Amino acid sequence: MGDMLKRVPVREQDAKERATNFEEVCYGYNLEEATEEAARCLDCKNARCIQGCPVSINIPGFITKVKEGDIEGAYEVIGQSSALPAICGRVCPQESQCECRCIRGIKGEPVSIGKLERFVADYALEHDIKPKKAEASNGHKVAVIGSGPAGLTCAGDLAKLGYEVTVFEALHELGGVLVYGIPEFRLPKEKVVKKEIEKVKELGVKFETNVVIGKSTTIDQLMEEEDFEAVFIGSGAGLPVFMGIPGETANGVFSANEYLTRSNLMKAFDPEYDTPIAAGKKVAVIGGGNVAMDAARTALRLGAEVHIVYRRSEAELPARVEEVHHAKEEGIIFDLLTNPKEILVDDNGWVKGMRVIRMELGEPDASGRRRPVEIEGSEFDMELDTVIMSLGTSPNPLIAATTKGLETNRRKCIVADEETGETSKAAVYAGGDAVTGAATVILAMGAGKAGAKGIHEYLSGEREEA
Ligand SMILES: Cc1cc2nc3c(=O)[nH]c(=O)nc-3n(C[C@H](O)[C@H](O)[C@H](O)COP(=O)(O)OP(=O)(O)OC[C@H]3O[C@@H](n4cnc5c(N)ncnc54)[C@H](O)[C@@H]3O)c2cc1C
Repeated sequence: MGDMLKRVPVREQDAKERATNFEEVCYGYNLEEATEEAARCLDCKNARCIQGCPVSINIPGFITKVKEGDIEGAYEVIGQSSALPAICGRVCPQESQCECRCIRGIKGEPVSIGKLERFVADYALEHDIKPKKAEASNGHKVAVIGSGPAGLTCAGDLAKLGYEVTVFEALHELGGVLVYGIPEFRLPKEKVVKKEIEKVKELGVKFETNVVIGKSTTIDQLMEEEDFEAVFIGSGAGLPVFMGIPGETANGVFSANEYLTRSNLMKAFDPEYDTPIAAGKKVAVIGGGNVAMDAARTALRLGAEVHIVYRRSEAELPARVEEVHHAKEEGIIFDLLTNPKEILVDDNGWVKGMRVIRMELGEPDASGRRRPVEIEGSEFDMELDTVIMSLGTSPNPLIAATTKGLETNRRKCIVADEETGETSKAAVYAGGDAVTGAATVILAMGAGKAGAKGIHEYLSGEREEA
């Protein structure tokens, strides 16, 4: 038995090697390592870790099962709260949720909850352990828009309660950002995402791809002409934000979403596909969030020298600590306290560089973070051939514009109740990035759960009145 103050280290692919391939970076625990790490859990009576989890997984409950060697039992405990544990175990910001509340963290390192969740979920995928299905249909039809974590969770929860659920997805692949945004080296698609979606299918959920709600059909039509009694909108926030600086429409400027979609979904990295992606010998990614790290690490694997250009300092980087650490290890260059002023364009309309200015941190702004201020006269030019903008996204206004009586706020987000997902329109519920703006997988899942609960209360209440 190792030092109880320290976590069992997790095996990872060597940094130099992985900078040239798209294989998964982290290998996860094996049974022996997971059992050793699980033994560090103190099984607290008042488990603060559960309070830190947006879907309230019974964390000490599943870890106790791991300690006992009952991995199937551990999966059952997690399955009561989460339909996508192999995904969450890989991409949740555990360090600011469950793990930062772990008592073990006071004197030593917190229990590696995320890696244990991943171990249990991967075991269930490998051993094809089935989720529990509803005994019979209750005859109610519900439509879910979008197959990201919010839509998948809402659909799965409703199916378990016996609803007939159809998910409508605009793209040809299911999974939302899990497939088109987060890269393969962090979240394997065939091995993890597709298999976890299969489990939602096994609950009886139907999926229709290539259906853009607002174009192919509308929410009003689904309810009036196709007898859907309730709708959950989980359409995400896929519309990129740009800076509005000169040169931004040049060839060689991408939004991070487009760049990642070309690579992840349209396999631009694979010579067998003819999807074009930037020439990318010298790439700058503007922004400091998870999306920026993913775009930068993708460009690196495509053979480029990559700079992250971020206007604040390292302490304010919004990306997960683990992502920044991995990006640095792989050789990404961080140009911090630096902000773009103009993209420099050659005579043929292609990016040739970027004028930037140095920044310093001033007084705290409304967000509580110190405001970056330009240092006069500190401009300089970077030589580049690709610029990737990763400044955030907002919800696409299509659904709101085509649905009568659906209220949105000034950020174009759908207005919905946090507890129930209820919107301004009767029988229409919403959650995830479409409501909050770009957030996290687990928050979207929490919102999907809340929406399922809200719809169930609404439809079962209706049944009582009938
Ligand atoms: C590159 C990247 C990296 C990220 N990394 C992390 C991370 O490490 N950890 C983390 O927790 N979060 C991360 N996030 C954020 C996280 O992925 C999102 O918060 C989460 O996916 C939101 O889930 P959602 O279900 O609300 O929306 P989405 O995942 O965006 O899914 C919405 C789905 O709705 C579909 N849709 C949209 N409009 C329509 C329509 N009109 N009709 C039919 N279908 C429609 C879309 O095609 C999409 O499939 C990352 C995001 C990105 C972009």
